[in-house]
Amino acid sequence: MLEERLVEALGHDAVKTAPEDLAAYAFDAYSDGALPDAVVLPASTRDVSAVARIASDLGVPIVARGAGTGLCGGAVPAKGGIVVSFARMNRILELDVRNRRARVQSGVVNLDLSRAALSGGLFYAPDPSSQKVSTIGGNIATNAGGPHCLSYGTTVNHVLGLEIVDSAGGVFETKLDEPGYDLTAAFVGSEGTLGIVTSAWVRLMQLPESVRVWVAAFGTVEAASEAVSAIVGAGIVPTALEMMDAVITKAVEAAFGAGYPTDAGAVLLIESAGFDDDMDAYEAAIRAIAERYGALSWRTARTQAERDALWAGRKGAAAATGRIAPNYYTQDVCVPRSKLPEALRAVEAAAARYDLTVGNVFHAGDGNLHPLLMYDKSDARQIAAVIETGNTILQAAVDLGGTISGEHGVGYEKREAMTRVYSTADLAAMARVRDVFDPTRSLNPDKIFPKGLRCPEVAPPA
Ligand SMILES: Cc1cc2nc3c(=O)[nH]c(=O)nc-3n(C[C@H](O)[C@H](O)[C@H](O)COP(=O)(O)OP(=O)(O)OC[C@H]3O[C@@H](n4cnc5c(N)ncnc54)[C@H](O)[C@@H]3O)c2cc1C
Repeated sequence: MLEERLVEALGHDAVKTAPEDLAAYAFDAYSDGALPDAVVLPASTRDVSAVARIASDLGVPIVARGAGTGLCGGAVPAKGGIVVSFARMNRILELDVRNRRARVQSGVVNLDLSRAALSGGLFYAPDPSSQKVSTIGGNIATNAGGPHCLSYGTTVNHVLGLEIVDSAGGVFETKLDEPGYDLTAAFVGSEGTLGIVTSAWVRLMQLPESVRVWVAAFGTVEAASEAVSAIVGAGIVPTALEMMDAVITKAVEAAFGAGYPTDAGAVLLIESAGFDDDMDAYEAAIRAIAERYGALSWRTARTQAERDALWAGRKGAAAATGRIAPNYYTQDVCVPRSKLPEALRAVEAAAARYDLTVGNVFHAGDGNLHPLLMYDKSDARQIAAVIETGNTILQAAVDLGGTISGEHGVGYEKREAMTRVYSTADLAAMARVRDVFDPTRSLNPDKIFPKGLRCPEVAPPA
């Protein structure tokens, strides 16, 4: 019945139900396992609306999916149902250079938008390391961050309006420049639980006149962390302030030859953008602080090719760890910047307990840690050790006044951990917001909200 209705609405070519097709949608970059009943590849908002109407008639859940690079199981169906893939809704609908904005379908790949905007001297600022593949729809649903979000802000600061399909198939728009509640922001980060984003107006920014990139090497991650705190504490906000430890720089150099020193305990990748005349002063100020906190060396990338190589190494760091172990698990937690040294010590201690190799590559300026725990998925003991270590790191971040996710979202993975930072009353308030937009709770069910809670507003219907 489900398949027939979907084929009738979208045509054979846009509906997949063969087991081998469904298997390709049963995972994201975090998890695998749960099969959908059908996958649809809509070509328009009207198609998405038709799918939502069918799902609503038949009482079937819907899970929106971008590129599947999510790291918390968000795009994986927890209860079967229909996965709506945005692979075919990947057009830039309007590039409005004069007003520095663009309207894009949800399946547009993040980097493709910046590439398209380049001819107008513009770029799209949120730049998750997955930007070569992750989509604007997925970025909006997770409020994605990235190295340059330190000064430009995360996705929520760059979305001007949304076109949404609701769980009953209705289509509506939110606009930032209209009075009343800011519903656009409410949808950003809602992980596909409030509505399905079909297109978005996003802000574009002018390319800076000048960009400088520097690499500072330190003996230890603690020293590098102290420098990060001091740089931001001095009122300097570089456009990016990233840290990699020795495990990561060695893997990155082996994979890419990006230009990082491999004999340092930690390196900072620092970028400033602005007017050419200001750059020398920026460099002098940041370098002085780095040296005060023990920088062993300081290097300026002289050419665009050198800058690109350093960034390609940083953004390819997770992939480079394939040289260390067959699998890695990325933890994503945030702590106040001043607590970075303690948080990193906690990471090291947690990994040491199970003799796990851990590599740290993260948005240090934001206090957003990403310990990568290396393991072998074929060994059940290692899987158990990674889960235990990940949980210990999560709790350590909370104990240090931080939180359970910096940018990857809650999804399926961290829904139980929500109780570590929110009270039942907090969660009930969030659930009331969800119920306004999706009263049947059929959009991406079993995500974000913990399953164990008794509170009827949060708990799934009996
Ligand atoms: C190597 C690597 C590096 C990464 N680096 C970063 C980083 O620097 N910063 C960062 O924030 N994240 C990062 N991520 C995580 C991930 O790339 C982001 O969460 C990204 O925003 C997901 O986009 P996607 O298109 O792959 O979405 P998916 O994984 O397909 O979906 C993610 C969530 O969005 C929902 N969704 C997708 N499309 C829509 C839509 N149109 N409407 C409503 N809901 C929708 C899904 O249901 C799901 O809940 C990284 C991941 C990897 C593998």
